[in-house]
Amino acid sequence: MDKQEEIKMLKAFSNANSTSGFEEEFVKLFKDSVSEIANVEIDGMLNLYASKKENKGNRPVIQLDAHSDAVGFITQAIRPNGLIKFVPLGGWVKYNIPALKVKVRNRDGEYIPGVVATKPPHFMTASERNNVPEVSDMSIDVGSLSREETINDFKIDTGCPIFVDVDCQYNEKSGLFFGKDFDDRFGAGAMVDVLDSLKGEEINFDLVAALSAQEEVGLRGAYVTARKVKPDLCIVLESCPADDTFEPDWLSQTGLKRGPMIRDMDTTFLPNPKFQQYACDLADKNNIPYTRSVRTGGGQDGAAIYYENAAPTIVIGIPVRYEHSPYCFSAYKDFKASVDLATAIIRDMTQEKLDSFKLL
Ligand SMILES: [Zn+2]
Repeated sequence: MDKQEEIKMLKAFSNANSTSGFEEEFVKLFKDSVSEIANVEIDGMLNLYASKKENKGNRPVIQLDAHSDAVGFITQAIRPNGLIKFVPLGGWVKYNIPALKVKVRNRDGEYIPGVVATKPPHFMTASERNNVPEVSDMSIDVGSLSREETINDFKIDTGCPIFVDVDCQYNEKSGLFFGKDFDDRFGAGAMVDVLDSLKGEEINFDLVAALSAQEEVGLRGAYVTARKVKPDLCIVLESCPADDTFEPDWLSQTGLKRGPMIRDMDTTFLPNPKFQQYACDLADKNNIPYTRSVRTGGGQDGAAIYYENAAPTIVIGIPVRYEHSPYCFSAYKDFKASVDLATAIIRDMTQEKLDSFKLL
């Protein structure tokens, strides 16, 4: 793909409305992006499997993983005054939620604009000014005057998905994207780009790019994709939180324009150490910048894939500033370096190298 095509794709991916359990809009967009370069299958949970067209069916399999959902919300109930009581989907912190612009998808599939309601400062007590309410006390307002109006006219009731409403921008000068849901639309974009780079090319393995559902609520889709794909090797393409604006230089392990982060540890996962070192060595050989990270928080699909069948797995993370908030920064060159590294690994991989990851 050329750079302009990549930028167009990533902006469209970021703008798609897709939160856990309500991924269909993005899954369709992803399917359209790969349907000419892969054989596509979708299961009942909306996990998507894009198999490289040259796959033979009798060779070891490399699985690529990215997830289709992003953090969002779901309507729980309509309050007597017409405001919507909601529940988060995925890992939010409460101080990022008030005054957020959202879209509620109603019973007819229409997107209704709304806002997480906040009391004007004029009416706040001193203690209200200095405290963020609990999420269970927050509401979304779509401008309705009553519970009946919200349910009957706006057609919003229990179980409607709510999406963050932010339009993605790309700044040619800085090379930065600014928008929402880069976790994990940029990983998904990287999967498309890797498949595209290898289009028509013979490699030593079968290759399946699996777009998994419901990662943000417990890696649920990836357990299913790993059972189906049965990978012999796996590369997780995640969008990973950058720490370069709040950690000192010596401790910062994921930053903008420093290349992908290759994860050594998080709360769910430790990679296969030999595969991990091999990936770093290959990045060095190809002059691809990267950082390594040891995290005491977070988790990702690699844990589920590992758990299912213990295929050597690594995580290539695209740095995202302010992940799981409505406004994120990510750099084009980090996206591209992640694609280059994943593609280089796939091209370089042999059965002998794969076997060496399992030798003591
Ligand atoms: Zn993610």
